[in-house]
Amino acid sequence: MKNEMTLAFDSRSENEGFARVAVAAFVSQLNPTMEEVADIRTAVSEAVTNAIIHGYPDGIHTVVVRAALGDGLLELWVTDEGVGIEDVKQAMEPLYTSRPELERSGMGFMFMEAFMDQVEVQSELGTGTTVHMVKRIGQGFERQED
Ligand code: ATP
Ligand code: MG
Repeated sequence: MKNEMTLAFDSRSENEGFARVAVAAFVSQLNPTMEEVADIRTAVSEAVTNAIIHGYPDGIHTVVVRAALGDGLLELWVTDEGVGIEDVKQAMEPLYTSRPELERSGMGFMFMEAFMDQVEVQSELGTGTTVHMVKRIGQGFERQED
């Protein structure tokens, strides 16, 4: 069975916590461990913060978080229609940040990759960015069979 949800919210920093809690609540139906929930909360928090701070540096626009559950697998998409990333490979390098003056440390993508099983970034300058993340939850589909 597949179960999906979509959240669309203003790119205000207050909404980062909302997105984190909403995704954690949605995922709870797969009976995740506390560690899995903590991992997912961190990944959502990093991706949403990036959309708010980097995607929309000027003004308030819409961030969309989509989640799909199925067969013990969580898929997440965090999308902004903001400035986009010129060089995704460089952006994903550990400790790379384009905003050192904001006291950013370039750890966001590192955390997403550490805590999720798969992280892919699609981005185009002037069009926006989607971060797609996948994580297997609990025993997962494959191990339920044996
Ligand atoms: P930290 O996450 O540690 O506070 P950071 O946000 O700079 O620092 P990452 O989250 O790893 O580090 O992101 C690396 C860089 O990728 C950012 O500095 C920014 O240049 C770019 N980036 C990430 N997400 C987006 C986005 N949604 N839109 C535009 N640029 C982005
Ligand atoms: Mg970041």
